[in-house]
Amino acid sequence: MDLTYTPKQQAFRAEVRAWLERHTPARPLASFDTRQGFEEHRRWEAELDAGGWSMVPWPVEYGGRGADLLEWLIFEEEYYRASAPGRVNQNGIFLLGPTIMEYGTPEQKARFLPRMASSDEVWAQGWSEPNAGSDMAAIQATAIRDTDHYVINGQKTWASRGAYAHWLFGLFRSDPGSERHHGLSFILVPLDSPGVTVRPIEKLNGKAAFAEIFFDDARVPVEHRVGEEGQGWKVAMATASFERGLMLRSPARFQRTAARLVDLYRENAGGCEPSLREKVVECWMRAEAYALETYRTVCRLLAGGRIGAEASLNKIFWSELDLAMHEAALEILGVRAELLPEAPAAEGVDDWLDGYLFALAGPIYAGTNEIQRNVIAERVLGLPRK
Ligand SMILES: Cc1cc2nc3c(=O)[nH]c(=O)nc-3n(C[C@H](O)[C@H](O)[C@H](O)COP(=O)(O)OP(=O)(O)OC[C@H]3O[C@@H](n4cnc5c(N)ncnc54)[C@H](O)[C@@H]3O)c2cc1C
Repeated sequence: MDLTYTPKQQAFRAEVRAWLERHTPARPLASFDTRQGFEEHRRWEAELDAGGWSMVPWPVEYGGRGADLLEWLIFEEEYYRASAPGRVNQNGIFLLGPTIMEYGTPEQKARFLPRMASSDEVWAQGWSEPNAGSDMAAIQATAIRDTDHYVINGQKTWASRGAYAHWLFGLFRSDPGSERHHGLSFILVPLDSPGVTVRPIEKLNGKAAFAEIFFDDARVPVEHRVGEEGQGWKVAMATASFERGLMLRSPARFQRTAARLVDLYRENAGGCEPSLREKVVECWMRAEAYALETYRTVCRLLAGGRIGAEASLNKIFWSELDLAMHEAALEILGVRAELLPEAPAAEGVDDWLDGYLFALAGPIYAGTNEIQRNVIAERVLGLPRK
């Protein structure tokens, strides 16, 4: 691995930085877990897209600029350096987009990718059900073929931003006699279809952006199936690898948090336990290690490799690191950590508490860390299942 940037990569970085300096909103947008914030973030995404920056690794015809994955990492570094807004359509651009790129038909690519890049259409991920979380193969929601449509029944839950999203990509049992990971299909469902009911669920931070989604004879054209009928598990696993292994959480996100943590420590060092200094330094080092490991993964992908079960190692690493950084920040802030940003004495407290509440979910979403450890044991280390 050569850790020096080429002149082309340096020019790319300069171009991204200059654009972001001109365009990044001066003030943070409202949380995208609120209706107002959701729409503010969509407007920002439209601006990014107009500049050609929404998904730099995508081909130009789908709203990207044909950048390679190293340039994508550079873009991410600049994006977080500029403190640009969170990506409201992350389920679309980071998860579904690459899946459609790999498994979608030319018509699906042309229909869905540009509107995803501009966040004209925001996507929710519909995998979890009340009785199918860690055990995703226990999915019960059905999509039964009726000539040129699927008729969908059942329930999905915990769909992030599902309360406001326009579309859902989900796994449904298209062969009613099938079991486990057989007989599932990967289907795209407009959330405003007749027969679809979206019921918001409030999160730990009090914002109702999660949703449970009910399907009562909702009809979806067969053209909205991605991949072969009954092969949905294979398609979904490709999405899961992108999610855990690379795209969902780029290292720049954690390097940015680590840098903010170091600043927070410096501002408050006088009142801190000496052992906190060590914790902060360790967090910073772990964020750097994650960045180097990601560069290694990207170099492997560029050389023709694929992301496999080792993606589970990544997921555990970033989720535990995020939690450790936020815990350290709360320790530094002491009792002040619990102040809301608008409280009179909250200067310098920033949004660490909100970040901590979200970091608590890191070991749960994208497959719990216990499940990732099972995957590592069985598929990376080759240990027996029992
Ligand atoms: C912030 C957040 C966002 C989310 N967004 C989405 C989304 O957009 N779309 C979506 O579909 N889902 C989403 N989820 C749901 C998430 O995928 C599930 O919560 C997760 O897969 C766990 O499933 P569960 O909640 O049903 O818990 P369960 O599967 O019931 O697990 C409960 C506990 O038992 C443990 N456990 C279960 N089975 C085993 C086993 N075999 N070995 C060891 N331990 C085990 C688990 O690790 C966990 O600690 C989100 C969750 C969160 C917290």
